[in-house]
Amino acid sequence: MTLFSSVELAPRDPILGLNEAFGADARADKVNLGVGVYYDAKGHVPLLRAVREAEKARLEAQLPRGYLPIDGIALYDAAVQTLLFGATSPLLADRRVVTAQALGGTGALKIGADFLKRLSPAAPVAISNPSWENHRALFENAGFTVQEYPYYDAATHGLNLDGMLNALSSLPAGAIVVLHACCHNPTGVDLTEADWARVIDVVRARGLVPFLDIAYQGFGDGIDADAAAVRMFADAGVSFFVASSFSKSFSLYGERVGALSIVTASHDEAVRVQSQLKRVIRTNYSNPPTHGAAVVSAVLNHEGLRATWEAELGQMRERIRAMRRGLVERLARAGDFGFIEDQRGMFSYSGLSSAQVDRLREEFGIYAVGTGRICVAALNDGNIDRVADAIATVVA
Ligand code: PMP
Repeated sequence: MTLFSSVELAPRDPILGLNEAFGADARADKVNLGVGVYYDAKGHVPLLRAVREAEKARLEAQLPRGYLPIDGIALYDAAVQTLLFGATSPLLADRRVVTAQALGGTGALKIGADFLKRLSPAAPVAISNPSWENHRALFENAGFTVQEYPYYDAATHGLNLDGMLNALSSLPAGAIVVLHACCHNPTGVDLTEADWARVIDVVRARGLVPFLDIAYQGFGDGIDADAAAVRMFADAGVSFFVASSFSKSFSLYGERVGALSIVTASHDEAVRVQSQLKRVIRTNYSNPPTHGAAVVSAVLNHEGLRATWEAELGQMRERIRAMRRGLVERLARAGDFGFIEDQRGMFSYSGLSSAQVDRLREEFGIYAVGTGRICVAALNDGNIDRVADAIATVVA
């Protein structure tokens, strides 16, 4: 017997396992559509010009490396609030929103979950079926019981709105509902504003606690359009949580830049909530890292850099949409894949079965997630013909 002799080997992360298999594949024309990263037209993770310029200025300033406040850079937190709620939001004027810099979107979800566990220890958590694979584990690790609400309708490649509304209507008051604000991962299927209005009606009627996850703001229809759900919840007068991630929109994956925002009913509430949230952060990692958030803050708070970033984000968004269009056009001979163009963000539930995904990998060196999720942002002019030909072959 040793201390660790009873420790079992944890199951491998399926997507990281896919990346390992891709790395070991010797075929020169292999394509990895299993990733969760935006690649540019040349197949590289971009370093945005706005980021480069902000980093250069930061390095030249040769600043000391002290600790940040527990909830991060104040100017960064304020910029996040403006991105989410809009500069003229009455919530911001009334100082009803608490925002804390966090370690990516994951870190924001984690501190939000820990805070909620202290507030409502017995509340169930509901996530979409399917959802980002970390949602369940994250809330379970915070001590919650996690259930699913229907979301994706495989028959229509769209939203199962009735199923979703029915499930939400049967949740007990105080239940926490995790919602993808835009660019749903993994399906790419989003709610329309009319759909959101119906969800908000149920949330209000049942007294549910919405936890919005926005990891792709700007990748769908634009920065403000993608925040529509956030702003509708704000207008509805409910208290809710928002986890922001800038991993994709600033292409700063490894810098861990995100934020948790909590909308409260009054400034007095906000002050008390902020004090408790800081306790949660303090006992998790004390305070967040500086570099990524300082860069994002510099970009968002500088008119010129911000314009550069918005243009670059627009290019990423347009490139993804062009790849969606290109795939649908090339697949027209194999069937109607028009739903891929209706989806938003980096991902698409392609409708491929796990057997078809296996064939793509084995026969063509094209890697996708077993659920049929493909990363549209990994397509480019150099690989899209091959990918479309291979998909047409396996669905024939
Ligand atoms: N939520 C969703 C829906 C995501 O897809 C991701 C990242 N893939 C995250 C949160 C986490 O983002 P981050 O990498 O910034 O932690």
